[in-house]
Amino acid sequence: MAALVHVAAGFAAKPLGERVPVGILVVGAAFLDLLAMVFSYAGLERNGSIPWSHGLLMSIGWSAAMFVLATLVSRSRRIGLVMGLLVLSHWVIDFITHPMGAVFGGQPLPPDLPLLFDGSPKVGLGLYNSSIGAAYAIEFGAMAAGLAIYVVYTVRRRRKTAPGGA
Ligand SMILES: [Zn+2]
Repeated sequence: MAALVHVAAGFAAKPLGERVPVGILVVGAAFLDLLAMVFSYAGLERNGSIPWSHGLLMSIGWSAAMFVLATLVSRSRRIGLVMGLLVLSHWVIDFITHPMGAVFGGQPLPPDLPLLFDGSPKVGLGLYNSSIGAAYAIEFGAMAAGLAIYVVYTVRRRRKTAPGGA
């Protein structure tokens, strides 16, 4: 979760991703949440337990898998690295923001990110656990920053490639 921050991370990665469409960068940043939707639908993850999509061990595995896949598709190890790190960024952002008691119900919640699988210790610094105001400020602040990075990059690039442009 922390939806806007993940989207923002995708936009902010554009200067590193260059020829990668920003939508693909956003998919990379939101990848673990997309997996969580699939796993929930398939019945693999139930009752708020999310080890296959959001466990630290599996998240590192998904990041590595994305690195390999993106490197093969793009034929660029650098782009593979950017996509792999975007997947990993999801876990780091969730680690800082989860659990999100202030967003879901208003009561502080216990940590919900497993290190390994079911039964392993769960972690989360809980930035969104007690203050909905802080959560909104960070969500929209991050989105504004991510968009700003993206817009500045694309405008500069267009100027560089425009015929007769300086
Ligand atoms: Zn997530």
